Amino acid sequence: MMFKECEVLVVGAGPAGSAAATAAAEGGAETLLIDRKKEIGTPVQCGEVVGETLLKKLNLKLPPGAQAAKLDHTRFMLDRRVQLTSREPYWKAVTLERKIFDKALAAKAAEAGAMVHADARLTDIEMEDGNVVEATIVCQGVEEKVHPKVVIAADGVHSTLSRLMKVELFTEKALAKGIEYEMVSSRKLPMGMQIFLEPEVGLGYGWIIPKGPRRANVGLAAIGMQGNRRDRLNDWLTTNPLLMDLFDVDKVIEVKTGDAPLPGFLGGPRRGNVLFAGDAAGQTLAFVGEGIIPSYACGQGAGTVAAAAVRLDDMSRLDCYERAIEDLMGNELEEGGELKDSILDVWMDESIPAGDRTVLCGLLMSEVMFPEELEEARTMLSMSRRAMIGAMKEALAKRRARATVSALNMR
Ligand SMILES: Cc1cc2nc3c(=O)[nH]c(=O)nc-3n(C[C@H](O)[C@H](O)[C@H](O)COP(=O)(O)OP(=O)(O)OC[C@H]3O[C@@H](n4cnc5c(N)ncnc54)[C@H](O)[C@@H]3O)c2cc1C
Repeated sequence: MMFKECEVLVVGAGPAGSAAATAAAEGGAETLLIDRKKEIGTPVQCGEVVGETLLKKLNLKLPPGAQAAKLDHTRFMLDRRVQLTSREPYWKAVTLERKIFDKALAAKAAEAGAMVHADARLTDIEMEDGNVVEATIVCQGVEEKVHPKVVIAADGVHSTLSRLMKVELFTEKALAKGIEYEMVSSRKLPMGMQIFLEPEVGLGYGWIIPKGPRRANVGLAAIGMQGNRRDRLNDWLTTNPLLMDLFDVDKVIEVKTGDAPLPGFLGGPRRGNVLFAGDAAGQTLAFVGEGIIPSYACGQGAGTVAAAAVRLDDMSRLDCYERAIEDLMGNELEEGGELKDSILDVWMDESIPAGDRTVLCGLLMSEVMFPEELEEARTMLSMSRRAMIGAMKEALAKRRARATVSALNMR
């Protein structure tokens, strides 16, 4: 098989790549979208949940069959001592069937006119003056070469393009390692996401994300996770009382592993004629668990900018990419970065007992409290459990937050 030449090569058909290819093709560029997976969307490496707020902001209609469940609240389980339930719009969500979602997005790119190839892996590049001038792709075992004007690197957290271009990748400290099972529960689940922050999970969080009344993704992700991931998850599932009550490690219907980048990309998302998008560019809101929709939005921006640069035959137009991201996702990415910094600050503060640190991180993550209120929160944690819950209730009432708090007695 011989590939036709393309003007825009998009590497990776996750949400970022498929959105980029659709936008580039709609913008009139000859576009080639490749993914090394034999079946786009499989295997899933994700909790599959997306917040309603971002879906609405982008006016993104989910493809038929891609919605598994609607979640009307999020519950934070903090150090097995505090249970905080938020019904703020931000914490309402939809669980996806990502296999269907990702495949449908790639199909949309094809419908928009892009060439789409599964089982096509970028293996090498030729560079001249900081630009990629040739890309080697192995498609169904056959080596092909293309000469795109623009390349969009939407190839995920362990980006091949970053490696080939020797762009500094994420350090271990900027990566959360994740593991998750799709499980059948012993009884009906509340239709809300549950997020666990506790020392047993480490610097990250655990989750139950329902996909149906008795089906859920149950997993954890942490920075610097040591040892075998499955062992870590099995240990957690067999020691956390709430999980033990709901799930049996003998009812696992899918295993999903993956790494998630923390927000931020060293040195900006454009290098020569290459635009990095999605996880490859750290365009995620890692500490609120959102990567799918930010990646989609930034991919769309990359595709639009790439098509305009090709149409005008002016590569300096690629500079507009950063601006496009700012317009599309700037606030969210900035706030995501700030939240990450405040959470890391608390986590690293060893003067605070480990359990208290996870409660404080949870208060920040849920946006029930902000960094400037941490002292107040620390005072609450020094009170008796009853007084602490009372003080938290008062703080929520003052803020008129659509959230409730109660004591958990799992320690
Ligand atoms: C455990 C875990 C749970 C998560 N849960 C959630 C969640 O609940 N909600 C949420 O919003 N986000 C979640 N995320 C993050 C989310 O999965 C990512 O942010 C999102 O998938 C990023 O999209 P992307 O298109 O940038 O990259 P990806 O979806 O990773 O797609 C990259 C694609 O590039 C392809 N590729 C890589 N190298 C090559 C190559 N050399 N040649 C060709 N193709 C290549 C890969 O096969 C892949 O299909 C989670 C992440 C992890 C690790």
